[in-house]
Amino acid sequence: MIVTNAFNQNLTEESKQNWLSYWKHFTDKPYCYCAEQNCTKQQQHGVLVTQPKMSSRTLYVVPLCKDHSNSFVSQLEIDDCAQIVPTELSL
Ligand SMILES: [Zn+2]
Repeated sequence: MIVTNAFNQNLTEESKQNWLSYWKHFTDKPYCYCAEQNCTKQQQHGVLVTQPKMSSRTLYVVPLCKDHSNSFVSQLEIDDCAQIVPTELSL
């Protein structure tokens, strides 16, 4: 599944860690790796994305390693086993 970066650049390190905690709390499919399709590194950041096929107005959280989080600019293919968790926020 392809997701689009919402406003990752504007988030602080602390806030990305908080979003990861949020994701861990609400996911009902435990997944311990970075959500990027081929990545098996540990999750370190929760990143805010949109998923146009599901709802273009809802923000979702995906768990990523620091490398993918920091290099994530526009779009990213994530593993189908990794669940994306909707935030209560809407754009
Ligand atoms: Zn990664």
